[in-house]
Amino acid sequence: MSSAPELKATLTLPYTAFPMKANLPQNEPLRLKRWASMRLYEELRKAGQGRPAYLLHDGPPYANGPIHLGHALNKGLKDFVVKSKTMAGYDAPYVPGFDCHGLPIEIKVDEHLGRKKLEMPVPDVLEACRAYAQKFVDLQTSQFERIGCFGRWSKPYKTMDRAYEAHTLEAFYGFLEKGFVFRGLKPVYWCIHDRTALAEAEVEYAMHTSPSVYVRYQLTSDPGAIDPALAGKQVSTIIWTTTPWTLPASLAVAFHPDFEYVALEATTGDSCCEQTSIYIVAADLAAQVAVDCKFSATKELARFKGSQLEHTTYQHPFLDRSILGVLATYVTADTGTGAVHTAPAHGMDDFYTGVRYNLDPTCRVDATGHVHVDPAAWNHAAPPAFEGLKVWAANPVIIAMLEERGALLASADLNHSYPHCWRCHKPVIYRATEQWFIGMETPVKRADGSETTFRQLAVEEIDKVIWDPAWGKERITNMIATRPDWCISRQRIWGVPIAVFMCEKCNKPIIDPALNRSIVDRFQREGIESWATTPTEDILPAGAKCAHCGGTEFRKETDILDVWFDSGTSWYAVAESDPELKEIYKGFQQNNGTEVLYLEGGDQHRGWFHSSLLTSVALRGRAPYNHVATAGWTLDEQGRAMSKSLGNGVDPVDIANRLGGEIVRLWVASVDFREDMAASENLMKRCADIYRKLRNTFRFLLGNLNGFEPLRDQIAEADLLPLDRYMLARTRELTENVLGWYAAFEFHRIYHAINDFAVIDLSNFYLDVLKDRMYTFAPTSKERLSAQTVLWKITEALTRLVAPILSFTADEVWDYLPKVEGREASVHLAQFPKPEGIFSEDPAALLKKWETIFEFRKEALVEIEAMRQRKEIGKSLECKIRFLFRKSSEGTHWFADSKHLLMLKEILNVSEVEILYIDQNEILKMLPHGNDDDIKLWAANDGIEPQLDVHKVTALPASGTKCARCWNYMPEVADYGIWQNVCTRCSEALHEMHIDPPQSTEAAQ
Ligand SMILES: [Zn+2]
Ligand SMILES: [Zn+2]
Ligand SMILES: [Zn+2]
Repeated sequence: MSSAPELKATLTLPYTAFPMKANLPQNEPLRLKRWASMRLYEELRKAGQGRPAYLLHDGPPYANGPIHLGHALNKGLKDFVVKSKTMAGYDAPYVPGFDCHGLPIEIKVDEHLGRKKLEMPVPDVLEACRAYAQKFVDLQTSQFERIGCFGRWSKPYKTMDRAYEAHTLEAFYGFLEKGFVFRGLKPVYWCIHDRTALAEAEVEYAMHTSPSVYVRYQLTSDPGAIDPALAGKQVSTIIWTTTPWTLPASLAVAFHPDFEYVALEATTGDSCCEQTSIYIVAADLAAQVAVDCKFSATKELARFKGSQLEHTTYQHPFLDRSILGVLATYVTADTGTGAVHTAPAHGMDDFYTGVRYNLDPTCRVDATGHVHVDPAAWNHAAPPAFEGLKVWAANPVIIAMLEERGALLASADLNHSYPHCWRCHKPVIYRATEQWFIGMETPVKRADGSETTFRQLAVEEIDKVIWDPAWGKERITNMIATRPDWCISRQRIWGVPIAVFMCEKCNKPIIDPALNRSIVDRFQREGIESWATTPTEDILPAGAKCAHCGGTEFRKETDILDVWFDSGTSWYAVAESDPELKEIYKGFQQNNGTEVLYLEGGDQHRGWFHSSLLTSVALRGRAPYNHVATAGWTLDEQGRAMSKSLGNGVDPVDIANRLGGEIVRLWVASVDFREDMAASENLMKRCADIYRKLRNTFRFLLGNLNGFEPLRDQIAEADLLPLDRYMLARTRELTENVLGWYAAFEFHRIYHAINDFAVIDLSNFYLDVLKDRMYTFAPTSKERLSAQTVLWKITEALTRLVAPILSFTADEVWDYLPKVEGREASVHLAQFPKPEGIFSEDPAALLKKWETIFEFRKEALVEIEAMRQRKEIGKSLECKIRFLFRKSSEGTHWFADSKHLLMLKEILNVSEVEILYIDQNEILKMLPHGNDDDIKLWAANDGIEPQLDVHKVTALPASGTKCARCWNYMPEVADYGIWQNVCTRCSEALHEMHIDPPQSTEAAQ
């Protein structure tokens, strides 16, 4: 047992049980369990009582699949906001939501049930939809929790909750009773495959080939009334369309009132059977029309303004119908003929023109897309050839009819961008249907009682909201200003029924608030299923009469509400109604300064931000939020959208399982979310590398805190060594910045600043130069305790500052921090550090003062590196640094005196520092650029401007003898027992550590 006691063993090396290897995929689930068992979310709510409130109201993701990276980004950002607000001293509850109704789920369930669905009662189908949605609510919940997102996951809001559904219906009744709702025929996007109206948001554009035809419409009114030059002549106009199936619905031809039109005498056919006809077309398009219609020659007979053509009449090319000449400013001069075929049942512009000219918008294309003839315009025994054909099949038949009648001037195929259904991806049509609408021009009153319209009030409310980034404001303003009336009905079953009774006689709804309340109660009690299962007489009071016609027969409306209406009323069903949120939200509505944030992808300006604004403005006269932030898209490294076919997707769940949920979080923090963001396996691995560095920094900090007891060992700020004070000032500066960036949602700046601090300030500098003090000084020495006091404050502050982002790791570090009585059980229950608690002074002046030291340090490091390159030294401790400053009466750098030699020695990590003051010219001669001219110049200026910066830094071999313990070259070394070459500083430290000089090979005490 007689081994020589080792001098090395007397060093105080870092030690911590905090593991170097994170094992995130294994350890994160354990921490999640711990958070669950300590009921962390409930504890946070308790802790928040009495604090000012902050409400991030969650936009519900659609519950029909596992989460993708966009979801992870969305929930990650929200989690940063909620956690940082909580740690900044707010009560910030977070109730996540799920959007559950609607077509995508109903279609999936349809596919699954197949023909069985037809025999199933409605409640059973609804139950199947509910189960389908719940399956994905559960899956997404577990996935969001896996990446460390806090929230009330045990009781999220779901748009299919009974209470939510009842609230949605109640909100609809609010619109109905306040006069916003009307039923009308209106063209809507219609999918003939899914047999449903589609919202704008449910339409996507793709290429589609359509027939492009030029059709002759013969003038039946007096041509002389248009222009005298045409008197007595046979005149026609030409329309151009890519939807021949809409021609049976053609009721008008629209001209631009301000365009110039010409009457062309056009020659067609070859020399043997030449023919001339007169056509009216826009002057600017005449040449192109002549080419497309193969006119061999044209001659302009007359020229006139489009306004001349109003109320002209034409013969429909194959129906017994007179076509009206109308004016419209949407007519363009870049395609077609300037004469626009107008079918009010099949186009939005056409519809509004029809309203102005009192045209009948009745639609004769049925829900499955079959075309039917208007009996009033067909005086033949046999139906026309297109009768009963699907729109696409009707096209060639109608083109053949046009040709037969000599009305077809040209026909070709056109490949163009065309609206398609977002679900079945088949082309959609515009079709006028009976729908329920919310009228954008409904008269409303402002808070001050003045009159305005719903649309205008919504626009005014947008102005009171903070839009981040700012372009969102203009975007949503334009959308609200130009949007058509809101079509809120859908012809499906998986959604909240428009629970209204319609009079069989006059087709008007019963609007009876008492009846409406009773149906809301019924939904609350029995669910939406009750609308299908309860007989009318059990809901309607006996003897109910129509207020309009006195009718007594009623039918139940079978349409359901648009899902955007569902989610758009979440402020009402959740924020205003949930026991945990309603007081906070009430405060916001009373303008008590509470912030209500909506944070979603940029496409929600036409989605959830939009529908929520409309419902809240209509029912409460104000926007439902005062702050809206939007995120860009997640793309691959080449800027392409992620897709299965490209195989460039990044699955956040897979990343969490392989690299850790923390890595997903770190990636979210690394991107500037307001722009489009790149993600890839590569970038995730880079985040994992950054993570390892951060973790090692924490480990090193913790290791150096071994044995430190804050209450016992802390040094007062005034007594700290200058370098330690400098680091506290840096930490305070970092803290101030980070707190500001959390408040401004600038998470990527936090990510960069924390990384830079960990790598540049800590690893490459402070922790490196501290090694001498930390390892060789006695643990009880003031110098070492000064460093530990600062390391403790840095670690404490850093742990709290990163907790919203690195939620798992910060909480793990928290467990290993030196124990402090009464500290919170989790970092997430703690608050952000107070900058003045880290360092009491304003750091700016001190940091400024230190800038020069770092400039000199940079020069010294260059000299040391040069010595190393010349193989004159190995470690920097083998050298001494000499600073030569000019002798002057104007003062010196603040650190350039004998008081600061030890500090300089430490930050330069050398054995010795020497400061000499000599004649300026002597220094100048030593500088590489110090030629005689320069010296004369300097000399000439001497005495006029103090040249404080005339200096020279030199690295020299250290004098003295290498201490066997601290490896510094010291002027005095001596034996310490059997240990040879121990410097005075080390032997004093050993005495202070009560290590007596060992006299034999027995271990030292
Ligand atoms: Zn479809
Ligand atoms: Zn009636
Ligand atoms: Zn020593």
